[in-house]
Amino acid sequence: MARVRYVFHPRYEMDLQGHVFPTQKYRLVRERLLAEGLARPEDFEEPEPITLDDLKIVHTPEYLDDLRHLRWTHRTMYSELPLTREIVEGFVLMAGGTWKATRLALQDGFGYHIGGGFHHAYSDHAEGFCYVNDLAYAIRRAQTEGLIERALVVDCDVHQGNGTAAIFRHDPSVFTFSIHQEELYPWPKEQSDWDIGLPLYTGDEVYLAELRAALEEIYRRFTPDLVVYQAGADPYREDQLANLRLSKEGLMERDRIVLGMAWQRRIPVVITLGGGYALRVEDTVEIHVNTARVARELASGQGEPA
Ligand SMILES: [Zn+2]
Repeated sequence: MARVRYVFHPRYEMDLQGHVFPTQKYRLVRERLLAEGLARPEDFEEPEPITLDDLKIVHTPEYLDDLRHLRWTHRTMYSELPLTREIVEGFVLMAGGTWKATRLALQDGFGYHIGGGFHHAYSDHAEGFCYVNDLAYAIRRAQTEGLIERALVVDCDVHQGNGTAAIFRHDPSVFTFSIHQEELYPWPKEQSDWDIGLPLYTGDEVYLAELRAALEEIYRRFTPDLVVYQAGADPYREDQLANLRLSKEGLMERDRIVLGMAWQRRIPVVITLGGGYALRVEDTVEIHVNTARVARELASGQGEPA
């Protein structure tokens, strides 16, 4: 049976000083994967240690210098997060985690990062709880090392993946797809290669039909060597920051579509967690754990075709 390996580090649980972003979810996802028998202790890997300097393949020197010196400037202040040494190091560590999970995906088919998905970070500034664009870092590094040529970003977070879209706007080797709530941050939206902006209160049926149809058409046009999945939990109907109405079952079906269509085509998928602000953090954790459940089902040949 093929295995799914996970990347995690205890330092992902950062002190955000009362912020709505629940960084304890990373530890809780790990604990629940173990408790439910979806992972064994030996299935967890540590992030690759990288430095701020390594991030220059994505971020500008001026912005990285602000992060290095914890300077509150027009480049850092739109993070809507505190700016401490611990937080900067946590974001850098998670970029190393998405890179590690990418390498696992290229070996195993899936690599699951219990972290990452910071799609609002631009090359030259922070935004929306995101300091470092780990998705762009993993893609650029895999390309630089000659491991892949083309990547497809499937961004299912309820917020548009504006930073990622802007970073790859003029790069035909990376196809950016984002399905999100239209009337919501970010304002204005960037232009991805394919955007689906959904109306308020969209539920499972419409969401899943739109997602499936778009991915089928994208795979007709574009053949990636790697899929980078931002599996945000915030399209959930009880999310505090958004207004879509997906159920947990609907979100799991979303995972089956995204992961299944790639698996059928033998395209490796790196999974990152992105956002999730359910009233009960356990719901966010369950949604993320379900994504791992679907990956394991597919890897072991038990998954239904998408
Ligand atoms: Zn989000």
